[in-house]
Amino acid sequence: MKYCPVCKNTKPFSDFYLSKAKKSGYHSSCKECSKEEKRLWRIKNKDKVAAYDKQWQEQNKDKKSANYKQWQQSNRGTVNAYNSKRRASEKAATPSWADLEKIKSLYNVAQYLDWISGGFVKHHVDHIIPLRGKNVCGLHVEDNLQILIDKDNLRKSNKHG
Ligand SMILES: [Zn+2]
Repeated sequence: MKYCPVCKNTKPFSDFYLSKAKKSGYHSSCKECSKEEKRLWRIKNKDKVAAYDKQWQEQNKDKKSANYKQWQQSNRGTVNAYNSKRRASEKAATPSWADLEKIKSLYNVAQYLDWISGGFVKHHVDHIIPLRGKNVCGLHVEDNLQILIDKDNLRKSNKHG
């Protein structure tokens, strides 16, 4: 049993928080009183607590967005290559003789170019002859692929409708 000087009760050790800072190994006040002390401390130090909470949230947010950015960057080739809508039309336009390894490496190069630009310039693997053009349909083969930066890709698709 241990005496709590705050509520002036003698309580079992299980009612006290462990504390490495204390000689006894237990917090001087009981769990109930500690909670109340903490609550009062937070009210008394409202500004300090708010600043700390804000700081923690911001640090956490940065960590989260940095992780997401990293994920996006390392998966961009995959994300681009497996875009579901495009995958269907690409599959239909891929002849048996297409060099799949070369095609894959082009997506990797586009991803690499994104990476060395620090994410400021986005690159796309573009079909020189569109897969679903009005008059001709291009094939999903290495010779019909080129790497364009985002702006060019948009301009090109606008021009060809
Ligand atoms: Zn107490």
